[in-house]
Amino acid sequence: MHVVGMAVFPMGGPGRQTGNGSSKACGLTVPSPPLSASRFHSTAAGPPKRSRKGKKISVRYDSVDGGSQEEEEADSKRLKWEPGNWRQQLENIREMRRHKDAPVDQMGAEKCFDSGAPPEVMRYQVLLSLMLSSQTKDQVTSAAMLRLREHGLTVDNVLQTDDGTLGQLIYPVGFWKNKVKYIKQTTAILKQQYGSDIPGTVEELMKLPGIGPKMAHLVMAIAWNNVTGIGVDTHVHRITNRLRWVKEETKTPEETRVALEDWLPRDLWGEINWLLVGFGQQICLPVSPRCQECLNRDICPAAKRC
Ligand code: SF4
Repeated sequence: MHVVGMAVFPMGGPGRQTGNGSSKACGLTVPSPPLSASRFHSTAAGPPKRSRKGKKISVRYDSVDGGSQEEEEADSKRLKWEPGNWRQQLENIREMRRHKDAPVDQMGAEKCFDSGAPPEVMRYQVLLSLMLSSQTKDQVTSAAMLRLREHGLTVDNVLQTDDGTLGQLIYPVGFWKNKVKYIKQTTAILKQQYGSDIPGTVEELMKLPGIGPKMAHLVMAIAWNNVTGIGVDTHVHRITNRLRWVKEETKTPEETRVALEDWLPRDLWGEINWLLVGFGQQICLPVSPRCQECLNRDICPAAKRC
């Protein structure tokens, strides 16, 4: 599945919500500074002294184990794990992705909808393109979306299309028979429960047939312009494990998503899928990665040295 997490809709996209986020300051396993031996601290400079009448001195008391709450929170941030060299590795990948010439850049999910359609139709088309893209090359997904759009890719039209015709339109996307079923079921739910629009939360999206967390977060980012999580597909999963961007090796994309969201600053969540999918299509290939061409070859734990 090759999809992107960046919203690239015309006029700010079909989404009505705007994503925002705050970055988390993280430090690499920096030892905690010793806590003060003093039983209390004054925010005024110098040792605590008797205050003059009318002048308030703010005093904060240590917690039971010897540190103030503010100090403990600061220590917690400093101690939070993050991978070594990740900023340099990220910059290198951005440089390698500079030309935006990977398949995902031409045929990703944000390229497959009809930009002249009403917003709710665009959102429906985004959802369908992501459903089709699972286990499918971008070229195949893009061709299937083109056929569907020529047929008429709206909720009503799809509901009126028999399963055999729908199958012919989307073939040969991966698991196309299952996808016919999921598309029909999901489309009926959208018609009945959401006024032919798509849901606007991860939780509701994940209740639709065939929609998991990866797809739900990508739908939120692309269709609603709201970054709610990192879209981890097979490329993101593989590359972040190679770069050791996960504290311990992860077995599934969902484990990877949770591990990445634990340390990666939130303002990068929307970029990471697009960046790594294209990188995985062109250089950090699943089999025989092109390490000799990779700017990260000297700082990647998985680089082939020969
Ligand atoms: S050095 Fe090789 S394994 Fe490491 S990121 Fe680059 S291509 Fe991937």
